[in-house]
Amino acid sequence: AQQILLDSRPEGLPTTANFKLASSPLAGINDGEFLVKNLWMSVDPYMRGRMIDRKSYIAPFAIGEVLEGGAIGEVIESRHPEFPVGSKVSSMLGWRSHYVTDGSDHTRLPQTPLSESHFLGVLGMPGMTAWTGLNRIAELKEGETLFVSAASGAVGSVACQLGKLMGAKVVASVGSDEKAEHLLSIGVDAVINYKISENLSAELHAAAPEGIDVYFENVGGEHLSAALDNMNDHGRIAVCGMISQYNDTRPTPGPSNLAMIIIKKLKIEGFIVFEHWAHYPEFAKQMGQWLASGAVKAEQTVYEGLERAPDAFIGLFEGKNRGKMVVKLA
Ligand code: NDP
Repeated sequence: AQQILLDSRPEGLPTTANFKLASSPLAGINDGEFLVKNLWMSVDPYMRGRMIDRKSYIAPFAIGEVLEGGAIGEVIESRHPEFPVGSKVSSMLGWRSHYVTDGSDHTRLPQTPLSESHFLGVLGMPGMTAWTGLNRIAELKEGETLFVSAASGAVGSVACQLGKLMGAKVVASVGSDEKAEHLLSIGVDAVINYKISENLSAELHAAAPEGIDVYFENVGGEHLSAALDNMNDHGRIAVCGMISQYNDTRPTPGPSNLAMIIIKKLKIEGFIVFEHWAHYPEFAKQMGQWLASGAVKAEQTVYEGLERAPDAFIGLFEGKNRGKMVVKLA
């Protein structure tokens, strides 16, 4: 079996030198165990946080250990009655080609007409994050204006589409014209390319002169500052992520306009999707219907081969993906 280990802690933007490809012989299976061949694995921005040695909502990765993350695999040998050969399973045991398990923290996937890889994206953690932020944190309402940053990524692209389904005007920001055109083609009302923007706040005002009611925050920094300038009274900010700061090597100054929180009586709430997981069945049922009817389009960017997983992960910070970034292992 092959695995990817964390070889050293990244300083700033990770490089492939921070990762190491290793191989080890596979153990045989005992009663109550099964052997999984991973088909797909996820790379996600939160993994960058786990590469730092600090206390957080999830434990840091250890140097020299196999990395972990969402994965979809197929059972290829089994002595476990609930996971027969041929079952497709989801686990947190990504970054490896094969492994033996007793099935704890494994879920069997239902049959769907879609690729199983979408359980790592639109039908999985990122889709659930978009749904949670809009419904349970910001409580977006029909007729409101929603601003989404990192809007063509795994979470953002679902947040934009759900925003439209919920009857909002949706304004988005992305890092390329190609991404902007794509979002416009799927119904987003206005898109800003922040990489060529000279004044994000002014461009946001031009895109949403009526003001923003809900900001789905994925980026932080200048994006947060521009959103604060343009929020309406009693607006809500669902703070999902701040990817512009994950590779910072020193603390960055906060927005200088935080007083807008008082002036505009804003509600700002951070959230971690796992605390809301009891609502996953409700989300999955709705999302399954939206995907089947074509109301939501599932997009992904695929890198092939375990050895390319570090590149896929680093690519998240370089905007290499549209939709969910996944690695195809087999
Ligand atoms: P994405 O698929 O959106 O991939 C990351 C994208 O972020 C890139 O494609 C890039 O797109 C953009 N980006 C990268 N660096 C910067 C930067 N410096 N400034 C602005 N944009 C940047 O990832 P996810 O959808 O998985 O995650 C999106 C956000 O949601 C992240 O902040 C993540 O940490 C957070 N998250 C939070 C969860 C929670 O429970 N709170 C759960 C899941 C995700 P572009 O070309 O547009 O720059």
